[in-house]
Amino acid sequence: MWPLDLPSHPANRSYETCISRTREMGTEKRRTRLNDAAKAVEKAALSFRKAAASQDLHQLKEDDFKVPGVADRNAVDWIYKNGMVDKRSPGRAIYDDLMDAAEDERCPMCGWGRVSQLDHFVPKSSFPALCVDPLNLIPACGECNRAKGEYWSTDVAGTLLHPYLDRVDNDQWLDARVIHDAPLRLAFFVTAPPAWGKVLASRVHHHFNRFGLAKLYASQANRTLRNIQQSLAGQLRAGGEAMVRAYLLDAAASRLAVEYNGWEGVTYRTLAADEAFCRGAFLC
Ligand SMILES: [Zn+2]
Repeated sequence: MWPLDLPSHPANRSYETCISRTREMGTEKRRTRLNDAAKAVEKAALSFRKAAASQDLHQLKEDDFKVPGVADRNAVDWIYKNGMVDKRSPGRAIYDDLMDAAEDERCPMCGWGRVSQLDHFVPKSSFPALCVDPLNLIPACGECNRAKGEYWSTDVAGTLLHPYLDRVDNDQWLDARVIHDAPLRLAFFVTAPPAWGKVLASRVHHHFNRFGLAKLYASQANRTLRNIQQSLAGQLRAGGEAMVRAYLLDAAASRLAVEYNGWEGVTYRTLAADEAFCRGAFLC
């Protein structure tokens, strides 16, 4: 939802790095089996990119993304956990690099939380061949990672937004309104631009709901509302409704210039557009 540049690490290099210190483990032949699977893993990465380019990720078939000769659970443990997550593992530098990609450590799935882990966009439990593919590893906050879990949609309309691949931030889609009950508060929702078409609109709605963004943004915005109440009251006394509106518009423009669909900018824009609010409804 909040875009990230494509990761620079190639998938085959990531796999090779992550398995590079795997030991044979006697008759288990762990190292041999992972080496033998390299070609299949590379092929899976290509299929993944091809589907991403044609927006067909929902059509991926689990059977095409196994690690041949290795049970799914073992593949995730040996390649991802031992080879990339472990602090002393050979792939840890790639892991850390992917984690650092988000500006100000901000989670690209919600635009608010602090990045604390990598999320597998396509679940590693069912698609283990993509478990260390950088294109499949999204830096995310703990809340978003938990909310997503093993979620995977075979319906294009239910496909979540992919921060490396989807670009929706040039359009205005986040909106809010003032609820004039006590306490006065904001409610957030998605307004899909007509140019998007049904599928993208559905995906953004789905993403918004999956990560509970209406509730998340409302709680932040309502706290902001209380924080500026005293300042707004002073401006209303000094310059009336026009001064309040000018202040809110200026605050909105400054924030929206940085983040077109950020909850802060949308909060100020919504308040400025609400006549009753600017006339002093915030005093109640
Ligand atoms: Zn998040």
